[in-house]
Amino acid sequence: MRGAGPAGTLAALALAEAGWTVTLVDPASPERLLASQRAYAFTHSSRRLLQRLGLWERLAAVMQPFDQLDLSDQGSQCGVRFTPADLWGAPRPAPTEALTETPSATASQAQTEAQALARPVGWIARHGPLLAALLEAVAAQPSIHRALGVTTPVDPEADLIVAADGARSTTREGLGIGVWRHVYDQRCVTAQVTLRGGRPTTAWERLRPEGPFALLPMGGGRFQVVWSAPGWRCRQLESLSPAAFLDALAPVLPAEVDLASLEEGARVFPVQAHLARRLRRGRTILLGETAHRCHPVGGQGLNLSWRDVAVLHRLARRAQAGRLSLDRLPAAYARRRWLDLCLTLMITDALVRLFSNRHPALLALRRPAVVALGRAPWLRRCLLGVMTNGPCQPFEAAPS
Ligand SMILES: Cc1cc2nc3c(=O)[nH]c(=O)nc-3n(C[C@H](O)[C@H](O)[C@H](O)COP(=O)(O)OP(=O)(O)OC[C@H]3O[C@@H](n4cnc5c(N)ncnc54)[C@H](O)[C@@H]3O)c2cc1C
Repeated sequence: MRGAGPAGTLAALALAEAGWTVTLVDPASPERLLASQRAYAFTHSSRRLLQRLGLWERLAAVMQPFDQLDLSDQGSQCGVRFTPADLWGAPRPAPTEALTETPSATASQAQTEAQALARPVGWIARHGPLLAALLEAVAAQPSIHRALGVTTPVDPEADLIVAADGARSTTREGLGIGVWRHVYDQRCVTAQVTLRGGRPTTAWERLRPEGPFALLPMGGGRFQVVWSAPGWRCRQLESLSPAAFLDALAPVLPAEVDLASLEEGARVFPVQAHLARRLRRGRTILLGETAHRCHPVGGQGLNLSWRDVAVLHRLARRAQAGRLSLDRLPAAYARRRWLDLCLTLMITDALVRLFSNRHPALLALRRPAVVALGRAPWLRRCLLGVMTNGPCQPFEAAPS
């Protein structure tokens, strides 16, 4: 396994669960691996994989559930709210033990957080605690050998090489696999803030003419800001003093919340979409950002990578059981991944193109579309199902 980011580390655990012996290689030390300030939104497709791998209990401890997603189109001044009912139909009563854990006298914030825990739309996790929990699981797994913080050549005897060494993968380049690439005329600013007011378990996605803006609840009133805008604007935001950045952020926030403080300063990321022209060559398969990257709108990137892992896991189990020959595993993996990857990249790209503008013809289409979404539960179910379960199998039965 080349790369111990969140995609490579989970893939190593999945192969080990399938009965394989794995070497997890990364030139970054464990401390460096944990250093990123990023936070990720996780969907139910990721939750299902973690449950299958027996990792859900461990990982749920570092994931903050949210039970409401407020989506608004600033251009057409319309919005729609997604709740768990849009995932599974009529609301189910929350399990009583989750609610009785909250003393009745405590603030409504604690009660709202307990409800979110019982019936979440999704989860938010910080990179550091998430990867630390995954690396702990790796350390507890005797069939995974770690080579972290050292440069290790590819083992010529390996049955399978999984390249999860990131967007600028040298493994992919070494194999001569090119990528289709689109560089957006937007960049992305991330920051962490504490907010007052509003529900602590609501996530916001605001589709603004300059680019999508997301507020992701991390617990305790802290939120991750993911703010896409033209490159010059992002560089300007990054250069502001903390007080000036908060002043620039205040008018962009939903009306019901107020800024309390800046916890992590602004950082700018490039925004690109890419897709590798092949997902395998010889004994090597490409996984995670080595294979694909999409715009951060809708928080799809890592969930898509973990669906790569889900497919690899199923195939690795079949190979271990003697029902799939090792030689055919890379081709089987590539065949099963194309549709999900292409559709997800197209959907995120379409969202950005449709909503990051004030084009009058598009505004005239967007308003009735968002209003219809607000009025038709089946439309909300379709859209939320696609974003949370993936476009290939958008509907999932309610977990028992
Ligand atoms: C602003 C922003 C917000 C985002 N928000 C979300 C979100 O809310 N939800 C979501 O699902 N996704 C989100 N994403 C996408 C997500 O961050 C990526 O999908 C994810 O980080 C990719 O993980 P990875 O393991 O594939 O790659 P990486 O995290 O880049 O890991 C690659 C690893 O490979 C190692 N490596 C490099 N070279 C070698 C080598 N030669 N040999 C071995 N190892 C090597 C590196 O050290 C690194 O550890 C967001 C992205 C951005 C930019």
